[in-house]
Parts: sequence; C-alpha cells; structure tokens
Amino acid sequence: MSASPQPQALTLALSKGRIFEETLPLLAAAGIEVLEDPEKSRKLILPTNRPDVRVVLVRASDVPTYVQYGGADLGVCGKDTLLEHEAEWGGAGNVGLYQPLDLGIAKCRMSVAVRADFDYAHAVRQGARLKVATKYVAIAREFFASKGVHVDLIKLYGSMELAPLTGLADAIVDLVSTGNTLKANHLVEVERIMDISSRLVVNQSALKVKREALRPILDAFARASQPQGASA
Ligand code: AMP
Repeated sequence: MSASPQPQALTLALSKGRIFEETLPLLAAAGIEVLEDPEKSRKLILPTNRPDVRVVLVRASDVPTYVQYGGADLGVCGKDTLLEHEAEWGGAGNVGLYQPLDLGIAKCRMSVAVRADFDYAHAVRQGARLKVATKYVAIAREFFASKGVHVDLIKLYGSMELAPLTGLADAIVDLVSTGNTLKANHLVEVERIMDISSRLVVNQSALKVKREALRPILDAFARASQPQGASA
C-alpha cells in the first residue's frame, strides 16, 4: 500500500493507451519518468522517479471527475470527454476544473458515419428522423440540433460500429483516427463534427495550494506541446 502523499505531492490521472503513451514525452520534458508499464502491471497507482509525483490510472471518462473532486491534482483527457462531462454535470461541469492547455496529443476527429448503402444526405434533406447510436450523446445532440436534424439518440458504451450493421441505428457518432475501423466495418464518414485532442486539466484549489509543485510541470508541458500550447 502506498503511504499518504505529502502536502505538495502531486497525483496525475491518466487513462491507459494512447493518452498514457502520448503523455510520456511531456512528462519526460518535466523530468518525470513513470517507473512501471501499465500494460504489464495491474497496479492502478504507478510510481515515478519523483517521490512527490504519482500517476493514477482511471477510465478516460473518469479523469475530469477525479480532477474536479481532488482525487487527482491534474489529469489528461480528450476534448470529447470534457464536453460530455460538462454536459452531464450541467453548469457545474467546469467548477473546480481549470483547463490551461491543449496538449495537441491523441488527435482524432468526432464524426458521423453510416453504412455505405445508406443515403445520409437524402435522409437529412427529407427531414427524416435519424436513429443515432453513440457514446457521445451531448456532442451528438448539440450537433444535430444545430443542423435542425431530428434524431433519436441511443446511448452505447462501445463497439458503436455494430449499430448500423445490426439495424439498431441509421448512423453513429464516434471518434475516427485512421478511418480503418470504419472501413473494416463497411461504414463511411459522412460528416466531421469537430477535431479532438487531449487537454490538461488541473484541480482549481490544487492550483493555489500546490502552486510551487505544479508550476514547473505546467510550464514544461506548455513548452513541450507547442505550437498547440494555446488553450482552445
Ligand atoms: P481508427 O480505426 O484509427 O479510425 O480508430 C477508430 C477507433 O478508435 C474507434 O473505435 C474510436 O472510438 C477509437 N479512437 C480513435 N481515436 C481515439 C482517441 N483519440 N481516443 C479514444 N479512442 C479513439
């Protein structure tokens, strides 16, 4: 069991996979090296070369919650995750959560995709009511509302590509990177909703109380993530 952290000790929340991998060079720029590989270890708290810095592994969608409530002082998560978190928490979604940096990592896009034989443009033009399956309900709702397209949203937690193939939905809203997953499932991208990248989020009270410990890390992250360093 790890001991309770010291007052200026920092906890960084990351999710496994692409965000973890792409955050490593930014941590290196701040002189921080994670000492265990999450793909080889079952530990959820990973030590670093700095006794005052540790990494906690959480689900991507839990990163804003950990940081907002102080379970972590800072974290890295996608713009998609932040938008969904904000919508879920209403006006309180941003309270306690400071978003200083677009890190320009884990880049992809949020898109609408349909079966290759589905005439999306025609359905939209006709004012048809589309069935849309997605994990990103808030982003999808906002996007289709802004286009004046009526949708029935179906919340899924994964494997969204299956929805149009099984007749569950006409379309999906999902993250697309190379496009290979869509292609492998005979789906085509018909609209790009927004570009996505990962952001640094910091607990607002930690920013005051742990300023000395946080500042050099924020500065190193800003320098290492240039030219995307400006907040969007
Ligand atoms: P791709 O085949 O490269 O287009 O990747 C698409 C699959 O990876 C979909 O299942 C997406 O949900 C997921 N994906 C792509 N980019 C990201 C990202 N930055 N963060 C999380 N999931 C992603």
